Amino acid sequence: MFEHILVSIAWPYASAKIHAGNVTGSHLPGDIFARYHRLAGDRVLMVSGSDTHGTPITVVAERENKSPREIFEHFHRGFLDLFLRLGITYDLFTHTDTENHHRVSQDFFSALLEKEYLYRQVQEQLYSEVQGRFLPDRYVEGTCPVCGYEAARGDQCDRCNTLLDPKDLIDPRSKVDGSSPVLRQTEHYFLDLPKLARAGLAEWLQQGKEHWRPNVINFARHYVGEGLQGRPITRDLAWGIPVPLSDWQGKCLYVWFEAVIGYFSASVEWAHNRGEPEAWKDWWYESAAKTFYFIGKDNITFHAVIWSAELMGVERLYEDRPSKKLNLPYDVPANEFMNLEGKKISGSRNWAVWMDDALDRYDPDPLRYYLTVAMPEARDTDWRWDDFLRRNNDELVATWGNLAHRALTFAYRRFDGRVPAPGPLEDIDVQLLSQIEAGFGPIGELIGACKLRSALSEVMALAREVNRYLDEKAPWFQIKEDREAAGTTIYVVLKAIDSLKVLFSPFLPFSSERLHQYLGYEGSLFGRSYTSAFEEEGGRVHTALCYDGSSGTGEWKPSELPAGQALGEPEPLFKKLDESVVDEERARMAARNLAAQA
Ligand SMILES: [Zn+2]
Repeated sequence: MFEHILVSIAWPYASAKIHAGNVTGSHLPGDIFARYHRLAGDRVLMVSGSDTHGTPITVVAERENKSPREIFEHFHRGFLDLFLRLGITYDLFTHTDTENHHRVSQDFFSALLEKEYLYRQVQEQLYSEVQGRFLPDRYVEGTCPVCGYEAARGDQCDRCNTLLDPKDLIDPRSKVDGSSPVLRQTEHYFLDLPKLARAGLAEWLQQGKEHWRPNVINFARHYVGEGLQGRPITRDLAWGIPVPLSDWQGKCLYVWFEAVIGYFSASVEWAHNRGEPEAWKDWWYESAAKTFYFIGKDNITFHAVIWSAELMGVERLYEDRPSKKLNLPYDVPANEFMNLEGKKISGSRNWAVWMDDALDRYDPDPLRYYLTVAMPEARDTDWRWDDFLRRNNDELVATWGNLAHRALTFAYRRFDGRVPAPGPLEDIDVQLLSQIEAGFGPIGELIGACKLRSALSEVMALAREVNRYLDEKAPWFQIKEDREAAGTTIYVVLKAIDSLKVLFSPFLPFSSERLHQYLGYEGSLFGRSYTSAFEEEGGRVHTALCYDGSSGTGEWKPSELPAGQALGEPEPLFKKLDESVVDEERARMAARNLAAQA
């Protein structure tokens, strides 16, 4: 019986390019997870989009003397291109400046207001007398009152991850002109988190969370504990979604409030684009559906606590059945951070592996492979170029790629380009095939539990078993004395490889598709990603990444490779990298880092 699985992936700000840390933190784990569930026959909806609002966009726009729209559209196009090249199969990757997202976000606000989970409060905020405006959080920096970090952002400290109010900063200064802002009064709406905690949020966080990562659930419980306060959800800003109240001109919904609503609005948009406007409800209102949120650890509060609070407070939207309630997150498998050669990744210091740049020199699967084996699931990890090289050459090429290539070329040349017909199977043959077959259940469970590193390492261990079998049988010697015995060996190996192809495919989709063809299959394991432009009723047009799964024929089950099947002409799946790339890449990074500081 299939399940409905919502794969929600953190919305990147469309004000900077995507680097290796972003990919391994959220986009790639979400994609591997979604691909597995599609193969397993589940109904997957994987959504995200560009965050076009927040001050990260306006900061860049002002710096470059462009409009916020020019900035976000430039980066949004780059994201779509990157995901196509890297094989991140979003059912919909849209953005937050659509009519749909504006309307849905305003409806969330109105529903929370009606249910009395919002309150108004006058607060003091930092105001720039030089610029004649209130300063958004990200326009302010200063010293973190918790850890003493001197360049803490107004909304969050990058060192200790504490969420901040900019007026808590010690010695605040404007990031635009360095001047010292003053405090002024302004009125805002607040999300009444203490009331929501009493209404069930706190209890919900205590129940049935055994499958959550301990750091995530502990962090969320702690946040909802003692000292919980309401949080402002509006801002004095020109760029964003207007507060839907006639007497609140000039104020916008705070970006952290509306960006998370994107998971819901993107699902609504996806259904609308398909011409099945109610289809999204299977993921949002059916109690058996499971919703997963792939994010970085700096986003735990917003997803585990605040988004859950918004959903609980709204209860239902665009839904008449009184028995239905919006689904709360089933799991929030937040990842830790990836560093780079022992130092924290930094866009401003240009210390990063930019994914579009890396794809100019490397195939997507070696990058996906390394970003999975080094995925920061339980603790911070480190991208090291020597490790990338070693993993590519010793594991991807030597263990998996060479195995597939040796067996396929042998069959192609010595057995007339077909899968040989086996003689009677010996114990060793049956053992190998049943060992591979037995891998599907546990490896699928590991992926389903978001333990992707362990899952991939189990698949690689099975590939090593097949190598051992092939070396022991040595069909290249067998064939000189007993052609049928050699044929049996090759049949067993090809069948094992055919199964490994499926087990590897969520991680390594590009090479798995090629292997699928070399093994003589028609069609593809997965569906097709494409970009499409959508025009809304009010005339706004946006381009989104979409996925059509209907052409994918892959299934999460052991091989049924038929003897006699005609093989495609095989080519190596992966390329061995020269040792020199380590020094080249390190020199390239050092030069960029130096240029950024000049
Ligand atoms: Zn701090």
